[in-house]
Amino acid sequence: MKQTGDLNLVKKINKSIVLHHIRTNSPISRARIAEITGLTKATVSSLVNELIESSVVEEIGVGESSGGRKPMMLLFNGTAGYAIGVDLGVTDILAVLTDLSGKIIREVRVQHDNASVEKVVQLLKTTIRGLIESAPESVYGIIGIGIGVPGICDESGNLLFAPNLGWENVPLQQQIEETFNIPVVIDNEANAGAVGEKQFGAGKDTANLVYVSIGIGIGAGIIIKGELYRGATGFSGEIGHISIQHDGPKCSCGSLGCWELYASEHALLTQARRELNDDTVDLEALLSKAEAGDLAVIALFERLGYYLGVGVVNIINAYNPEYIILGGRLASAERWLMKPLLALLEKRSLPHPRKQLKVAFSELSDRSTVLGAASFAVATFFVETTVSIDRN
Ligand SMILES: [Zn+2]
Repeated sequence: MKQTGDLNLVKKINKSIVLHHIRTNSPISRARIAEITGLTKATVSSLVNELIESSVVEEIGVGESSGGRKPMMLLFNGTAGYAIGVDLGVTDILAVLTDLSGKIIREVRVQHDNASVEKVVQLLKTTIRGLIESAPESVYGIIGIGIGVPGICDESGNLLFAPNLGWENVPLQQQIEETFNIPVVIDNEANAGAVGEKQFGAGKDTANLVYVSIGIGIGAGIIIKGELYRGATGFSGEIGHISIQHDGPKCSCGSLGCWELYASEHALLTQARRELNDDTVDLEALLSKAEAGDLAVIALFERLGYYLGVGVVNIINAYNPEYIILGGRLASAERWLMKPLLALLEKRSLPHPRKQLKVAFSELSDRSTVLGAASFAVATFFVETTVSIDRN
């Protein structure tokens, strides 16, 4: 019995390895997969046949031969199902429908005023329902929903604490799962963003990266050796709450002088509203003023770049990453933020960890989190699909 169990496990692992190569390298031949993985051609063929049977892989005609019979090429079938990725923000919800390869099919953005947990969750459900209803016909339908949240959550998908929303202990996964009867994954928005960047963005070829999500607050997702680092109990990356001024103003987390009080979008808006004497000015307005050459507004962005640098120096010195990717809506202000930020890094970070480091704003703009969240749902689906095929 023991041996059968082990053999099944080996088969599952092999199948997920084969699927991984088809997902990341297609079009690819069976022979090439055997070559890369070291599995026998017979094993690869039998696993590929099962994957074709389950509709996640398809054959697309013959490829180039390196001598002998021309091989049949295999393609990952991204449209066998669809996933939903959500970025639950402090003032808005961004949600996308993607296929299984992460291609965005539809995108919805709605504002909320955080009137109550119930109202926001209701809006979240309405948004998700709209995307589900718009999904094209497919073999598996909607395979899962991934939600990135601005706070910390436990393994059961309870949102434990989201200081900028003022939420505590919300059983979000359970609430969404009960409504849609579809598997739901909840994770921190910066963790989802880091995975989004690693899979689809600037971090594709990088094993060690830190994704810094700059929104109303600041969070980080840390990827070490290609894997998301979650910390001992899942709460890593709360980097917006490193104290950069030991006796600074009070933060919503209870501490003093936290980085996000100086370098977040919220910090920028607070400063701008005070200095420009305009209580309603928002990021879009500031961007167009800077665009038009308003020197006072440009100075605000430059100061923000400096404050961003203060925290990024700590990340460089603590983690020695290859790549720091800055994400969030502030990426649109890159041209005013980058110069003061880099100047500060040059002056203050330790020279050795700085040597090979790249710092850039996200290429995905503010879509890193939704893409990462959707990919969590897809990853969970493939783990479960592999298991269910093996039960046959
Ligand atoms: Zn704080």
